[in-house]
Amino acid sequence: MSSVSVVGLGAMGTALADALLAAGHTTTVWNRTPAKADPLVERGARRAGSVAEAAGAAEVVVFCVLGYADVHTLVDAAQDALRGRVVVNLTNGSPDEARELADKVRALGAEYLDGGIMAVPAMIGRPEALVLYSGSTPAFEGHREVLKVFGRAVCLGDDAGRAPLYDLALLTGMYGMFAGFLQSAALVRSAGADVEEFTTALLVPWLHAMTGALPEMAAQAAKGAYPAAGSNLAMQVAHDALGDLGRAQGVSTELLAPLFELMRRRVADGHGDEGLAGVVELLHRP
Ligand code: NDP
Repeated sequence: MSSVSVVGLGAMGTALADALLAAGHTTTVWNRTPAKADPLVERGARRAGSVAEAAGAAEVVVFCVLGYADVHTLVDAAQDALRGRVVVNLTNGSPDEARELADKVRALGAEYLDGGIMAVPAMIGRPEALVLYSGSTPAFEGHREVLKVFGRAVCLGDDAGRAPLYDLALLTGMYGMFAGFLQSAALVRSAGADVEEFTTALLVPWLHAMTGALPEMAAQAAKGAYPAAGSNLAMQVAHDALGDLGRAQGVSTELLAPLFELMRRRVADGHGDEGLAGVVELLHRP
């Protein structure tokens, strides 16, 4: 069993500390508003009187607060107490923020792992939770058993910025899926049909089936070559079918209109015989 400190006991930090306690790790906790530590202390956690005390109490120090500016303030407060520790920062931010914090933590003589939590607090400690890590690979390997307590732990290498990049890229994919759901729910509701039945019986299986196309589209995006597999782009935008339907049903088309605009631009650029994945060329030029 390892000793772990959790700094920041909001909804997520509390879930992380509870998972550590459930797994039998010696868990020390600190929160800016001290009362939030009380329930965890009742469940067996040790209370630290300061961030420095929390840092000094454990091999692994987990930070989970609102933003990187808050983590900087806390690291400044802990300073020398972090020497020789592994700092695991599970606060959300950007890749550059992660790299900057990694440099600061390393300068204090500690190892740094950045983490992206792909879960809500209720999922922590359950197999469906995923936490992405990057930064010190030796620190990840050395403390893998602790990190696995939170959920499936995946290490993405030495660049501290990689975990936040992948975290935000995964969220991007999720929001794209939700955008499609919102538009189809509005269309079905506008027709007076049963949105729940439509979603459960038809949309969810359809989306599952469509995810099967993603690996081939990803391979095309990696190569920069986009042969159409049966459904070329010109065919997909030959008629503004979705726009027409939205207007006829009184449903705004503003959500997906930018995607169709990009598809039409790609056709206008001479790529109508290619597949949808070629749109990535309009979003990013290598
Ligand atoms: P909460 O709002 O529940 O908690 C915020 C925590 O940050 C509190 O402990 C708060 O302390 C602390 N805090 C804020 N500012 C400071 C500061 N300047 N100094 C010290 N402590 C500070 O947020 P969550 O726990 O939900 O989220 C924490 C992190 O986890 C965020 O970066 C979030 O993006 C990430 N995350 C959250 C998920 C979720 O579903 N909740 C999912 C994935 C990631 P105090 O109690 O004193 O206010």
